[in-house]
Amino acid sequence: MLGTLARRLRWLGYDAEYRNDLPDEEMIRIAREEGRLLVTRDRALSRRRGVNALYLAEEELEEQIRRVIEVVGPASGEGRCTVCNGALVSISREEARPHVPPYVLRIHRRFMRCERCGRVYWRGSHWRGMQSWSLDINTP
Ligand SMILES: [Zn+2]
Repeated sequence: MLGTLARRLRWLGYDAEYRNDLPDEEMIRIAREEGRLLVTRDRALSRRRGVNALYLAEEELEEQIRRVIEVVGPASGEGRCTVCNGALVSISREEARPHVPPYVLRIHRRFMRCERCGRVYWRGSHWRGMQSWSLDINTP
């Protein structure tokens, strides 16, 4: 349910893990062990003891994003993999070459690779926020 929010937060540089397949107890355990804020639309879950939780009453994505940022502050990173939440590291054009189409290599200068799943991203020359990032769907 909050999957889109998680992906948008990753674009913005937040370390946002997303799971919707776990029982509440497991979600609480992971949040506690990893020192995470549990963001949920489940009011009962947000009130459970022993976990730092944020209940999102907001239904609109933009409002949800605003609310999370209000609570947690600015992102510390530059952007994370939207697919798996791995950290992105800069790679050279040579390293990117096998993973991106030739036209992308010609017109783009900045490339990044996800440390976790290996996807390659590039930043467009016309940087206007997250739309400028593209995903190389050919890598793993
Ligand atoms: Zn990834």
